[in-house]
Amino acid sequence: MSLDGTYDDNNPFALILAGKIPSVKLYEDAHTLAFLDIQPQSKGHSLVISKWSRARNILEIEDEALAEVMATVKTVATATRKALAPDGIHVAQFNGAPAGQTVFHLHVHIVPRWAGGPIGFGAHGQGQFADAAELAALADEIRAQF
Ligand code: AMP
Repeated sequence: MSLDGTYDDNNPFALILAGKIPSVKLYEDAHTLAFLDIQPQSKGHSLVISKWSRARNILEIEDEALAEVMATVKTVATATRKALAPDGIHVAQFNGAPAGQTVFHLHVHIVPRWAGGPIGFGAHGQGQFADAAELAALADEIRAQF
């Protein structure tokens, strides 16, 4: 999908927000939700979305929704650092399929990085699925740091 198009009410993140599919939640407030990525680029990889904006990408998102999402990115990155002690934190956001976007509800990736480890996005949206029990345990560790 290109930068132009219409919002799909059945995209995975819309289904998570509607409670139609599960997610491993880390944090939520009135306007935003953070949950673990099911095909993580590293241990503790999470995503932050707006609960109300129907923006598919950064070109469409309301300034208010973007500010809410980025405030939650900071909150979750801070808790992730406390829980997992990464050496770096990669914050990323993709717009349009040619740029690597696979889910068309704006989201920001928070990817903990460790010195000497990989820094790119591999098999983006097509990588290995994480073990459900491991994700649940990881979420407990991060949630304890908010
Ligand atoms: P992007 O390629 O920037 O659109 O990123 C989409 C991300 O969403 C990928 O890293 C996927 O692994 C992740 N993802 C897709 N479906 C789900 C889901 N149901 N729960 C959690 N993460 C998901």
